[in-house]
Amino acid sequence: MSRAFLVDPVRRRSGLATIREPARRCAHDVILDVLEVGICGTDREIVEFAFGEPPTGEDRLVLGHECLARVVGPAPDGTGLQDEQLAVPIVRDPCEAADCAPCRHDDQDFCLTGQFAEHGIRRAHGFLAERIVMPAARLVAVPDALRATAVLAEPLTVAEKVLRQLAAVAGRVPSTGAARPGAALVVGAGPIGLLAAMALVLRGWTVTVGARSVAPTPNARFAEALGARYVSTHELPLGVLAAETGGFELVLEAAGDATVALEATAGLRPNGILALTGLSLPGPPRAGFDLGEVIRRVVLGNQVLLGSVNAARADFEAAIADLLRAEERWPGLAEQLITSRYPLERSADAIHTSGGIKAVIEVQEAQAA
Ligand SMILES: [Zn+2]
Ligand SMILES: [Zn+2]
Repeated sequence: MSRAFLVDPVRRRSGLATIREPARRCAHDVILDVLEVGICGTDREIVEFAFGEPPTGEDRLVLGHECLARVVGPAPDGTGLQDEQLAVPIVRDPCEAADCAPCRHDDQDFCLTGQFAEHGIRRAHGFLAERIVMPAARLVAVPDALRATAVLAEPLTVAEKVLRQLAAVAGRVPSTGAARPGAALVVGAGPIGLLAAMALVLRGWTVTVGARSVAPTPNARFAEALGARYVSTHELPLGVLAAETGGFELVLEAAGDATVALEATAGLRPNGILALTGLSLPGPPRAGFDLGEVIRRVVLGNQVLLGSVNAARADFEAAIADLLRAEERWPGLAEQLITSRYPLERSADAIHTSGGIKAVIEVQEAQAA
């Protein structure tokens, strides 16, 4: 038997329960002990029944999509996995449509049908359980050196996918060609914004992180420890910041506020890219917000509005590589994003915690020593 955190959207219940231990269904399946699961806004929304969908034919969904696990027993040959290997599971499964070219070529993060499943989110059980089974093809090997930080790989893939697309988008301007590091503004200083800032600094970008809170906060300190500039948008509105700095080649929105993100186009240089990664809450735009002005700027500046969601294996591998590089450059820093840790029994507290940067549930900590 395995304990897991389950959400029942019909009866509107959630909590820890004992479920049958998952079994391998074929030779390509790998059994894993879950070590850690990170909590984010998506988990909170699922527990509040805003979305979340159990697998077909079941009434409960195992929560959790940000996971670090350890292989139990032998793994299939040729997968780079072995007994006791640390691994991070990929969240999205491909859809089954024969004509969905992205899903047929392991690009399910660009699925055309919308019929994909996402572990811990829709139609596939998540990872907040003592034991899980995943196909080897959906696991990314993690070096032991990242035992303390690899749970951050999944939220880091948000930035990695944007950076991968950035390279393709930058190629549209023949004379400047491939993306080269310039000035970037990251809007939002939550885990995704701070991890994005980290990935950008590692690639040589000059990074400003803009968020509402006035420094000093742990988030501002983290940004500054990376060598990024932190500004409070209360003290320095984005428009003023753009004028003062001369603008940005990239604005990466990770705040979940469409108005703020679109206003940030005021800070984009010609040919600049606004990458949107946050899901905006529905509601009327803020008073004084002028969408026409935003569109004029985007057109006259040859700018790109780039929406990005989910991530491919390449992005998970880039995240693991970046976490290794980060550990070399700023030893112990990435781990500081994890500001609270909870045992599995206190999963509900971890999900509802407020404050701090990232809450992590230690599922198998006792055995991990
Ligand atoms: Zn998440
Ligand atoms: Zn598809």
